[in-house]
Amino acid sequence: MPKRQSSAQAETIASTAVAPVREKRRAREVGAETPIENVPRRTRARRPAKPREVDLVVIGGGSGGVATARRAASLGARTVLVERDAIGGTCVHRGCVPKKMLSYGASWASILSTCLSHTGGKEDWSDAIVRVNAEVARLTASFSQRLHESGVEILHGDAEIAAPGEVRIGNETIRARKIVVATGAHPRPLEVPGGELVSTSDDVFTWQSVPGSLVVIGGGYIAVEQASILARYGVKVDLLVREDRLLSRFDHDIAQSLAEALTRKGVRVHFNTAVTLISQANGAYEVCYTQNDRKQSVRAQAVLAAIGRDPNVQGLGLEALDIEFGDNGGIRVDRQFRTSVRGLHAIGDCTDSLQLTPVAVAQGRWLADRLFGKRGDMADLEVVPTAVFSEPAVGAVGLTEAEAIEAAGKPERIRTEIRRFVSLENRFGGMAQPSVFKLVFNARSGRVLGAHLLDNAAPEIVQVFALALRLGVKASHLKTTLALHPTVAEELFG
Ligand code: NDP
Repeated sequence: MPKRQSSAQAETIASTAVAPVREKRRAREVGAETPIENVPRRTRARRPAKPREVDLVVIGGGSGGVATARRAASLGARTVLVERDAIGGTCVHRGCVPKKMLSYGASWASILSTCLSHTGGKEDWSDAIVRVNAEVARLTASFSQRLHESGVEILHGDAEIAAPGEVRIGNETIRARKIVVATGAHPRPLEVPGGELVSTSDDVFTWQSVPGSLVVIGGGYIAVEQASILARYGVKVDLLVREDRLLSRFDHDIAQSLAEALTRKGVRVHFNTAVTLISQANGAYEVCYTQNDRKQSVRAQAVLAAIGRDPNVQGLGLEALDIEFGDNGGIRVDRQFRTSVRGLHAIGDCTDSLQLTPVAVAQGRWLADRLFGKRGDMADLEVVPTAVFSEPAVGAVGLTEAEAIEAAGKPERIRTEIRRFVSLENRFGGMAQPSVFKLVFNARSGRVLGAHLLDNAAPEIVQVFALALRLGVKASHLKTTLALHPTVAEELFG
């Protein structure tokens, strides 16, 4: 896991644009990976360079920023991408990729230890983290390589928007016809006394070993995923959830079955909790909380808070530009990703939209197409497939039962079908863990409005089901489509 550069380091590295050779050496000394790439020769001039002109500056080298920059450059735009850290952003370094790989390791560990207990089949954290880091390094190099091949110039450093159409990186100023902010988000701090003591999901991927016990605070995507992954690596996990259920934006039947599954796998789930204080003594943490007005506490070797992610909007000079912000503190944009400042756009997690990698990528590609000449089709952001990579995993697309009833106005206008079954995979592993498939229909037309699945195959099934939903699939289509046997997906057909 590459360490985040301090701003002082980042500034030093940014000044490479003025004297690349000397600064490249200095940057190597402070441990930067690739101080600057594709710097044009003319920037070696000793005199302060006049602001050079480009068509687009993208601030942020995560999934959204990379997609925007590559698409714009492929359309002929002279494109600069500024990133203060390693290319790849949260998804590659602190999110989707390392999380999913750790989850594979954890699943294999539990399958091997159940089925091959007599041979002592085992996957441990230190082994898994080596595999994860190797893949993250491969992806980082591949992202940079593909940006180069597309003709994008990468500058490393902190970008500040000095004025509309003007971006400052260290000593260099670049004038750009368009600017796209794609700076992502960071873990929300826990605002209670001692809140600064807790780890966040960013830290987990840097752990060289796992704690013996852990308190996880939160009931959303990250809290559930990390509780599930770490429990399978042998950590004793207490999950403190402030609601009376997990995953408040998912279907209630799926959330309830998932809570039961996590409990069965040893996670102690505590609902209706409010954390009040965190303290540290004798090598352990104590988390004090109230539950239904009763004071409680739990001790553990580590505490992880996953209570949402706040948009990265600080230090960009946005306040001085009178930018408007949404309720979540993200940059407010219209349907064409325009901010309130002409020529300044924003996409992805730093805005007030859904914080999902494919959403940022779709927004960035569409925006680059629009800005540089080609009118592309926007992905349908009404039908967003999503997954929680716990064990079992959750996959969902479309309306939950509660959302469908609210949209229809009356419960009788909505019909649901729910199937609970034990998959062959779980039978083989000797586990009676039920899978749950729930479909939500328009009662009159039979049109499928939502699919909510709990099974390790759920994310893969839901990806294809998103297409079916967009094409208006009905109950009758599902009944008359031949099932593929033996799969878990066949439970949706026939
Ligand atoms: P989520 O918004 O998913 O969940 C936040 C959780 O924390 C909710 O249960 C929320 O409760 C709770 N919470 C909020 N404030 C507090 C507080 N002060 N004390 C205790 N609990 C609190 O955020 P995450 O951090 O899990 O993830 C951030 C985003 O990243 C997600 O929304 C998702 O978009 C994205 N993500 C996607 C993944 C995927 O696609 N698999 C994986 C990881 C992240 P309440 O419900 O009451 O608000």
